[in-house]
Amino acid sequence: MHTTVETTNQYIANTYARTPLALTHGKGSLLYDEAGKEYIDFGSGIAVNVFGVADPEWEKAVCEQAGKLQHCSNYYYTQPQARLAELLCEKSGLKAVFFCNSGAEANECAIKAARKYSNDKYGAGRYRIITLYNSFHGRTMATLSATGQDALHVHFAPFLEGFVHVPANDVSAVQQEVEKGGVCAVMMEMVQGEGGVQPLADDYVQAVAKLCREQDILLIADEVQCGNGRTGKYFAYMHHPGVEPDIVSTAKALAGGLPMGATLFGPRTQHVLTPGTHGSTYGGNPVCAAAGVSIVSRIDEALLQQVTEKGRHLRQRLEGAKGVKSVAGLGLMIGVDTDRKVQDIIAECRDKGLIILSAKEKVRLLPALNIPMELLDRGIDILLEVIGK
Ligand SMILES: *Cc1c(COP(=O)(O)O)cnc(C)c1O
Repeated sequence: MHTTVETTNQYIANTYARTPLALTHGKGSLLYDEAGKEYIDFGSGIAVNVFGVADPEWEKAVCEQAGKLQHCSNYYYTQPQARLAELLCEKSGLKAVFFCNSGAEANECAIKAARKYSNDKYGAGRYRIITLYNSFHGRTMATLSATGQDALHVHFAPFLEGFVHVPANDVSAVQQEVEKGGVCAVMMEMVQGEGGVQPLADDYVQAVAKLCREQDILLIADEVQCGNGRTGKYFAYMHHPGVEPDIVSTAKALAGGLPMGATLFGPRTQHVLTPGTHGSTYGGNPVCAAAGVSIVSRIDEALLQQVTEKGRHLRQRLEGAKGVKSVAGLGLMIGVDTDRKVQDIIAECRDKGLIILSAKEKVRLLPALNIPMELLDRGIDILLEVIGK
């Protein structure tokens, strides 16, 4: 008899630095491993299980739809897909949605749409896309090309042409690239996730949005991680008054744990994609879309208020605590710079029954948006004990 860990290590390609922890099930913000040990979950997958594990409303939506129609081609119409698109447009004020299966695909669609917008309007050659250092936009060749992290680029040259990376919070760097010409879009995460949980400065986002508007350059917000209520607003760009991206990509939390991504288009871009220019067999799958409706419909003002309050509580308990250098983030998307090495903290928290994540050299916390206060505090107790050791 081999253990799950052994069989995995033998038969699954070794692309993840996995923690030796085999999970079987959970309930809300609690998870259980094969030995029956209980863990408080401060990761939600990676910002995916936003209403925790086996949330009753989500489960009902998924099971009911699975028993009715689990898939149909996008040559036909389905009610869950239509309803989810309508909800996303109502929440954001954006105009149209393309559905896919992941964050990388949502960004692929954003990149294609930005290039087509420019090509339709200005002809060939205006295809460059500015992204930020420390960004993360996905693992496909185009989204990896967009990702501004040299460490992820070492093995895979040549990359897709036309991406340029600039430092975050430096307007003049964006300006300089724009002046070189040929730029069709600027793409950014309002809170960099994988890059270390770094919110962009408001004056920077405002200035870039203004520059984009003046030059008819599209602003793309990658809300794959920071979207869907995570930061206390529906999308993180909504922390920047007046900023209206032309394209928004999202995924992770969207269907509460089923694979689904979406690319949202504003007034300037809603008609860019036309029949045959883009598609996805599974995109908008009815089970995932029904799951999405059960999630998105519940991310309302009351929930967002709770996210803000829980985020504030979490920060207050961490800031100034022993072993904590600094705390950054927004809402329930928090990065903690610590004296101790993050991998040691993760391992010791796991032993004590708390699951956390890392981002670069920081501790990253992404609990479920509806985590009960009591579990939040119990988790923080463990974290503080380990960080302060
Ligand atoms: C996770 C992530 C992606 C990639 O999403 P996948 O679903 O893994 O393809 C893209 N952008 C950001 C900001 C992310 O956090």
